[in-house]
Amino acid sequence: MDIRTDLADAVGNTPLIRLRAASETSGCEIFGKAEFLNPGQSVKDRAALFIIRDAVAKGALRPGGTIVEGTAGNTGIGLALVGASMGFRTVIVIPETQSQEKKDMIRLAGAELVEVPAVPYKNPNNYVKYSGRLAEEINRTDPNGAIWANQFDNTANRQAHVEGTGPEIWAQTEGQVDGFICAVGTGGTLAGVGAALQPKGVKVGLADPMGSGMFSLFETGTASPEGNSITEGIGQGRITANLEGFTPDTAFQIPDDEALPILFDLLENEGLCLGGSSGINIAGAIRMAREMGPGHRIVTVLCDYGTRYQSKLYNPDFLRSKALPVPHWLAGSARELP
Ligand code: PMP
Repeated sequence: MDIRTDLADAVGNTPLIRLRAASETSGCEIFGKAEFLNPGQSVKDRAALFIIRDAVAKGALRPGGTIVEGTAGNTGIGLALVGASMGFRTVIVIPETQSQEKKDMIRLAGAELVEVPAVPYKNPNNYVKYSGRLAEEINRTDPNGAIWANQFDNTANRQAHVEGTGPEIWAQTEGQVDGFICAVGTGGTLAGVGAALQPKGVKVGLADPMGSGMFSLFETGTASPEGNSITEGIGQGRITANLEGFTPDTAFQIPDDEALPILFDLLENEGLCLGGSSGINIAGAIRMAREMGPGHRIVTVLCDYGTRYQSKLYNPDFLRSKALPVPHWLAGSARELP
């Protein structure tokens, strides 16, 4: 029999999918790690599971306890679902600018949702700092206690990719992999997979959206973000604890108008319905393929499922309002009757 003991046991071991158009246009084999097939439909289920297991192992999280976190959404969904399967309550703090679909899913998954204004990290009301204070408050007043998941600086997050994602990619490609690339939110995926694969000779690249400071940080030593992006869950302005000690071999800055047509083509021609960060990652893989030259194998991450962004990324009115390309089948021209 092949039976998972519970939902937590169904996290990870996602397939690698060959991306046809990306491979054909670049002359390399480009594979996507299908993280949208996790139970919570994103890569963040992995971090959620490792953070919860680590807190339980350390005795910080006890039966009936509460997990508190500030998240752009996916970590909240992962913590709520995996937490529920292990008997914990979840309180999620989210910037109000995140997609309605993610907020609805967090509530549906049984978490209590606190929306805060989207303000920079240095502001005390930033969602990350707010969630830390809320965790302390609940821990002080609730006899069952509470933990702050703290995904940005809790390295149990990166460990999920050191032990899971990285070795899975190595095994699935039978070690025949030349490059890995993805964007940074907390940095757990990039630095974790990097720690697993760089020592084996795999080149590791950073794909950074506009508005994020990572590209300039790695190129010049100073984070100087410019421009902006509609992608959610990625972009970073500092070296988080998860990124400490990691340096990419190469880095690319990817504008939305380069990433979005790739996503729309994938949905139309390859049946893959993905979120915005996957578009940045695939565009990064294509740039890395051009830099490495034809004949290489490059893996990237398909971070989450596209239905989570139907009101934004796949909404023609929203795209037009941002002067971004609109896929022709969403453009709204009704079919003419003969
Ligand atoms: N894509 C999406 C959609 C995400 O939610 C996240 C996590 N915030 C990432 C990519 C980045 O992953 P990581 O936190 O491991 O850097």
